[in-house]
Amino acid sequence: MVKNMNSEISNKKTFKAGDIIMRQGDEGNAAYIIESGLVEIIIEKDRGLVQRIGTRSAGSIIGEMAIVDKKPRTATIKALEDCKMLEITRQDFNNRLEKTDPVVSTVAQVILTRYRDMMTRAHILGQNDQLESMEKEFVNQTDAIETITIANEFKDVIDNDELDLHYQPIINLKTNKVDGFEALMRWTHAEKGNIPPNIFIPIAEESNLIVKASRWALRRACRTLRNIMDVTGEDLFMSVNFSSADFAEADFFEFTSSVLKEENIGTQNIHLEITERLLMDQPENAKKTLQKCRDAGMSVSIDDFGTGYSSLSYLHHFPINILKIDQAFIREMGTDKAVLELVKAIISLGKNLDMEIIGEGVEHPEEAKILKKLGCDKVQGYHFARPMPKEDTIGFVQNQ
Ligand code: C2E
Ligand code: CA
Ligand code: CA
Repeated sequence: MVKNMNSEISNKKTFKAGDIIMRQGDEGNAAYIIESGLVEIIIEKDRGLVQRIGTRSAGSIIGEMAIVDKKPRTATIKALEDCKMLEITRQDFNNRLEKTDPVVSTVAQVILTRYRDMMTRAHILGQNDQLESMEKEFVNQTDAIETITIANEFKDVIDNDELDLHYQPIINLKTNKVDGFEALMRWTHAEKGNIPPNIFIPIAEESNLIVKASRWALRRACRTLRNIMDVTGEDLFMSVNFSSADFAEADFFEFTSSVLKEENIGTQNIHLEITERLLMDQPENAKKTLQKCRDAGMSVSIDDFGTGYSSLSYLHHFPINILKIDQAFIREMGTDKAVLELVKAIISLGKNLDMEIIGEGVEHPEEAKILKKLGCDKVQGYHFARPMPKEDTIGFVQNQ
């Protein structure tokens, strides 16, 4: 329910009973808040079938996806009674967002960005069912207050010793042995317990708190790797995740190099994991910084490959030497021929660009088999091992 509608941002509109307020498939530019009246939501299916989703009355917001993205309407909405509405165009909303309290604006932007990411992933995979449930989840669970609270509490996690790293083995498909680990952040909140990284990382990124956390993680991960290599005598790598905010720091390369030195880790033993989004956000800076890292001997991985926004054609502009295929593809490739073809294409693209390929989220032995057959180099997933605390890593390497 929407209260206290502010006329400053909106135009008044009236619709007569029977009017179509928006039509499925049309481009949406505005959302509406119903002041009075009743509307019906209808989804048109193939062969003229229609599905009636329900009705909405005063206080509801309809067509809100138009504020998120310039995409076709996903439903038709028809006035069942005469209706008075406030129209909020995407432009109104954006203007409003720019002027608002920075906390509110940040939170709204985080949520919108995260939502767009989810939608993009779902669209790429054509998972319409998932899409519908995501939409519901978004509407039901988004809680701005919670987001602000988390951002506030994350400030002190390092000092309060609430932040930790777990390490997930990455297995070489040729030798069936562990080649390295990915460091994954864990936050155990004193009262709330474990908070998943998918919740706190985007919030930490938006508030720039991620920079301090990433720097802490890099040092901690290097220290753990030194310890594992010393005890087991194996030569292994550590993969550490970085965000756009980390790369925006002018001394990223210098800081990273100095940590490696101080922790006695060779540059060839570190993989920097970044996303396509980072490349899109700051292409020139990313290119320069990554080049310095590569020249120094570090590896650079593209994480969640295939779900982002970059066109395949510009991948080779960046100094990247590892592609990590997103787990969503791995999950689908056994049952969906089109996805299998995509995975094949990604692997052959990577190979042609001289990159190493890592398949993520391998949960079943058949998936590992398919990937091996397609020429994938390495895999990571619950089938081999879950992310584990530092204490378990040495045993894992020794007992393989
Ligand atoms: P990611 O970088 O793609 O990490 C892989 C995620 O997949 C991890 O989730 C891991 O636990 C999970 N995973 C691994 N194998 C399987 C599998 O077989 N099945 C399934 N269902 N999941 C699997 P986690 O640890 O919850 O992290 C989620 C995301 O949070 C990460 O995705 C990454 O984007 C972010 N993240 C985690 N730690 C850090 C960090 O230190 N820095 C940054 N910037 N981001 C991080
Ligand atoms: Ca990663
Ligand atoms: Ca990933």
